[in-house]
Amino acid sequence: MTTTHAYPPSGAQPGAPACDGEGQPLLELPHTAAPGLRRVGVRPRWPYKTVLITAKALEGLLAAQGDLDRQGDGLALSVIRGYETPAQTARRNRLRRLGAAIFTRLYPRRRAEAAGIFSTNGHDRSGDHVDVRFAVAGKTPVLLPLGPLTPAWLIRRTHRLHGPELERVWAALRKAGFRIHPNASEALQIHADFGSR
Ligand SMILES: [Zn+2]
Repeated sequence: MTTTHAYPPSGAQPGAPACDGEGQPLLELPHTAAPGLRRVGVRPRWPYKTVLITAKALEGLLAAQGDLDRQGDGLALSVIRGYETPAQTARRNRLRRLGAAIFTRLYPRRRAEAAGIFSTNGHDRSGDHVDVRFAVAGKTPVLLPLGPLTPAWLIRRTHRLHGPELERVWAALRKAGFRIHPNASEALQIHADFGSR
């Protein structure tokens, strides 16, 4: 199966690395207007304009989208983050440290979660680590209203509101070869690691 022709590397930005930290070649996916049948959307997280990802992780996402398409319930995946360059990681790590400090201050009982939520989670190593979001009939639900600082009660609310769709998305990703992050916040971030089931 090869559908990567849908993502020409023409959106490449100057200075984008050709390989990730593990020496795997990277595809640089430009922002796409909308996901569609057998097509995964690309919505790079601000302030970035592209997503860097390995071909096998993209194939995995396309397989997951194909699985969802066959179920016919209008769920559409977009990838929002893949490999982070060392410069991006250095910038983000400053925010991560700040976020972890605020998180442990706000939620001292969830202190043990901070490492999982505010670590690079492999984004600094390879393009096999992605963050995904999904839309239902064109609408993207907000799963983490306060981002990584979303309190546990709002996480439970998201599960009540979007549990069935989330389960279908996680199941399709797992079937396609991804491992979903075990932390509750990161699972709603839909952080998925390809090839590490
Ligand atoms: Zn992630």
